[in-house]
Amino acid sequence: MKMFFTFFVSCLLFFSGFSQSQQLFNNTNIKEAYEKGTRSPSGKPGKNYWENHADYNIQVNFDPATRLLHGHETIVYENNSPDSLNEIIFRLYPDLYKKGVYRQSHIAEKDLGDGVQIESFTIGNEQIRNFNDRPNAYRDNILLIIKPSQAVLPHSKTNCEISWNYKVNTGSPVRTGMVDSTSYFIAYFFPRIAVYDDVDGWDTWSYNGTQEFYNDFGNFNVEINVPKKYVVWATGNRENSADNLSENVLNKFKEASVSEKIIHLIDSTDYHRKDVLKNNATGDWKFSAKNVTDFAFALSDHYLWDASSVVVDSSTGRRTLAEAAYNPIHKDYFDVGNQAHQTIFYTSHFYPDYPFPFNHETVFDGTDQMEYPMMVNDNPTPTHKDAVQLTTHEIFHSYFPFFMGINETQYAWMDEGWATIGESVISPKMGEPEDEGIFSKTRFENISGTNQDVPLITNTKEYGGAPYLANSYGKAGVCYYVLQDLLGDKLYFQALHQYINNWHGKHPTPYDFFYSFNNGSGQNLNWFWQRWFFGWQYPDLAIKKVENKGNAAHVIVENKGGLPLPVYLTIISKDGKKSIEKITAEVWKDEEKEKIFTIAKPYSSIASIELGNEFIPDKYKQNNSWKAK
Ligand SMILES: [Zn+2]
Repeated sequence: MKMFFTFFVSCLLFFSGFSQSQQLFNNTNIKEAYEKGTRSPSGKPGKNYWENHADYNIQVNFDPATRLLHGHETIVYENNSPDSLNEIIFRLYPDLYKKGVYRQSHIAEKDLGDGVQIESFTIGNEQIRNFNDRPNAYRDNILLIIKPSQAVLPHSKTNCEISWNYKVNTGSPVRTGMVDSTSYFIAYFFPRIAVYDDVDGWDTWSYNGTQEFYNDFGNFNVEINVPKKYVVWATGNRENSADNLSENVLNKFKEASVSEKIIHLIDSTDYHRKDVLKNNATGDWKFSAKNVTDFAFALSDHYLWDASSVVVDSSTGRRTLAEAAYNPIHKDYFDVGNQAHQTIFYTSHFYPDYPFPFNHETVFDGTDQMEYPMMVNDNPTPTHKDAVQLTTHEIFHSYFPFFMGINETQYAWMDEGWATIGESVISPKMGEPEDEGIFSKTRFENISGTNQDVPLITNTKEYGGAPYLANSYGKAGVCYYVLQDLLGDKLYFQALHQYINNWHGKHPTPYDFFYSFNNGSGQNLNWFWQRWFFGWQYPDLAIKKVENKGNAAHVIVENKGGLPLPVYLTIISKDGKKSIEKITAEVWKDEEKEKIFTIAKPYSSIASIELGNEFIPDKYKQNNSWKAK
């Protein structure tokens, strides 16, 4: 409010005449979606919106001694599209470890194998035996393409039944594999049907270890059979804990589900007393999850287990169990259960200030820094700060991409950008702020404006490396920060909640995000989207000149990079007093090249002026300072 009294944007020097109602560029896929009415410029799903579903019933056996994972599944696939599907595309993710498959991740020779062995495969009433029979059935990198003799008709269901096996990797952990000889984190382990959607049709992308995922929502019933000495953690609700966990652990589990305080469900004394599992444990662990995009599990025979619960929805009193399962040699992990608890509290009540969408969240001491619905696979970290920032980041992914069914492969910023800003605003609540203000801000500054930079809207599956990381994390994270500053908290959260409410359980595109925000904020933000997502503008504000205007001083700020950024001026007077003047990115709405800011202080009283702060990106900081001569 202060700026209204002392700080005026006094005149407009250049004006290039873009109107705020400008239309965003629609690629032809999106254009067709609008023509078909599956999407809508209101930001809400169109009246003809549809998405396909697959429900998975899976039985899986895994023995760490042989590393052989054997699975059997039935899939009920629901084609809600208006199209007859003449082919069905399956993803066999473990084939990332198959010899000869195209990949960007390095896999050590010892971890390469024969990939997924299909023992039996039925689709509808048809048994498929030959997977090298183009064009009827063939494997292409990690994909399996099946042309059933009968198409799957619009608004119909088909059943698939598949048995398979593969050897789980001991090294080269790309988001899955062995942690130690008796601890495993296992993801992407079952054949699944790729997404067929209204914008792109079949998702024919073959996972190569870099870009992330895009999955339909479905219900999962999974039975995991492991040797009897293991404890299993997984996506979903525990359906048969009493078949395996000891009375002692079960009681503590019940206690934790209503306790704010951390309960050590399994501590080292439980192992010594052999009081972790029942004597007659079955080794069969059942889990169920409704309307999720994926399923992962983990097991160990020596991990500790901490849990507490958080009221995530004040109106209903609903609680989420916050868990950490870890190797006692990793001292940083003794606080991770607490960090998980706090993250779930802050996501529910502070940012995005929306009830945590799942019943539990388990951080497993693993090999990577990766999220799955209700599960996180996080390596141990050297410092408390690293642990806090990693835990907040990965848990934040519960909203994006898992509550919202984001296409991470094509628009990584639609999930990583949110996890970045989530990490950057929640970590300081635990006393561990980011050194860069916002995680990866520097990475973005370094790339921006160079010949490696690409507009944020660019399909992320078409590029990788440094620009991929700079865009998906840093640029998107700072963009959401600048947007919040621009709209103010009330409008910002109103728009963010409208976006979440419009699209959770569905597949939003970037345009659905833009238009949900336009609608939810009641503002046409196309000028903002245009420059942050479609343009080549980069962050560089500069103090061009400071002029003496009698009782006031004029600061001329130049927008050299063209990206709309907040102007934040720190003024140090000659008597040592400091004052701050700030104005949102809206000041650049009409593409002005420079602005004059009036400081209500005599020029002669000012010792120095500094432009920017740690949250606002700026590629060239050397032009951000002015000192009185
Ligand atoms: Zn992430």
